[in-house]
Amino acid sequence: MGGSGREVRLVARPEGVPKPGDFEIAEVPVPGPGEGEILVRNAYFSVDPYMRPRMNEARSYVPSFELGAPMTGGAVGRVEVSQNPRFAVGEWVLHSLGWREWALLDGSGVRTIDAGVAPVSTALGVLGMPGFTAWYGLFEIGRPSEGDTVFVSGAAGAVGSAAGQMARIAGCRTIGSTGSAEKVSWLEELGFDEAFDYHDGSVRTALRDCAPDGLDVYFDNVGGDHLEAAIGALNDHGRIVACGSISSYNATEPPPGPRNMFAVVTKRLLIKGFIISDHYDRFAEFHAQAAGWVADGRLGYRETIVEGIENAPEAFLGLLAGENIGKMLVKVGPDQ
Ligand code: NDP
Repeated sequence: MGGSGREVRLVARPEGVPKPGDFEIAEVPVPGPGEGEILVRNAYFSVDPYMRPRMNEARSYVPSFELGAPMTGGAVGRVEVSQNPRFAVGEWVLHSLGWREWALLDGSGVRTIDAGVAPVSTALGVLGMPGFTAWYGLFEIGRPSEGDTVFVSGAAGAVGSAAGQMARIAGCRTIGSTGSAEKVSWLEELGFDEAFDYHDGSVRTALRDCAPDGLDVYFDNVGGDHLEAAIGALNDHGRIVACGSISSYNATEPPPGPRNMFAVVTKRLLIKGFIISDHYDRFAEFHAQAAGWVADGRLGYRETIVEGIENAPEAFLGLLAGENIGKMLVKVGPDQ
């Protein structure tokens, strides 16, 4: 193929909050695909909270990023050269070699995107992994009934905004917490019944005001004080969807646990974690339902798009600092 493209590498393991110097942008030759391979020009790639724990050395459910190697993660792009009969030049595909402008793929784990359904970027957001996480967590673990009160933390993010709206579609009263007045306004536009900025006071007080009759489901993206407050506000037989704990991802010491765990016993609460990659057998079911909701306007979404691969580290740091509304993406290639 000739020419060169850029990739982002992790060059130092962050201590606490990551810094721009933990990353390096490198220029590398664009490879030519061999038999069975495709060359994809990435258009968007995703920066996600789970990437922060992957930067540590500690063992987790996904292996750590290797120092000096290009980072990986969800990406969508257009096939430019194909030596694989399953993929035609010009098709849009979803794959896991993000953080780079060009991706050489052998076809495994690559999914073709129907660019006619919705903008291709949604394959990384509302119609992709984050939307699927919201759907699976809410309906399989939260199991809301019509009339239930559902509280979602991180509610203006990719997962949270979808989870809250899906709860509303299921006929629930929805409450969202988030980090700014602008995000609170967006949640109100989306139809959340109540939304609050957790910087304005304690989560416990906010939940007392927003849910005087208690909560039935808590979709936890944040952990920490949000989790403790939700345990306190849940009604008997309430469900906690343990999806994420972003308040502790930069922690250098183990964070304190909720002080009210005995309430899990006395209120007969369910608390269940999940990792969405275990559940892709349900993806088609999710996609069909969510694409319908997007098409009929019941599932709204927003994207915060940072332009240029050189700004990818900043996009990632911005995600952890709450600079995104909806899904945070980096745009590095062609328009649809
Ligand atoms: P978001 O789009 O929600 O972006 C992250 C948001 O977290 C920021 O915008 C910020 O918003 C908020 N945040 C950052 N620090 C804090 C803090 N200390 N306290 C409260 N909020 C904070 O990301 P995603 O939607 O992609 O992910 C949301 C959660 O879901 C994460 O915890 C993630 O790890 C988890 N997840 C879990 C999966 C699973 O398989 N279990 C799969 C995918 C995601 P704000 O302005 O509101 O502070």
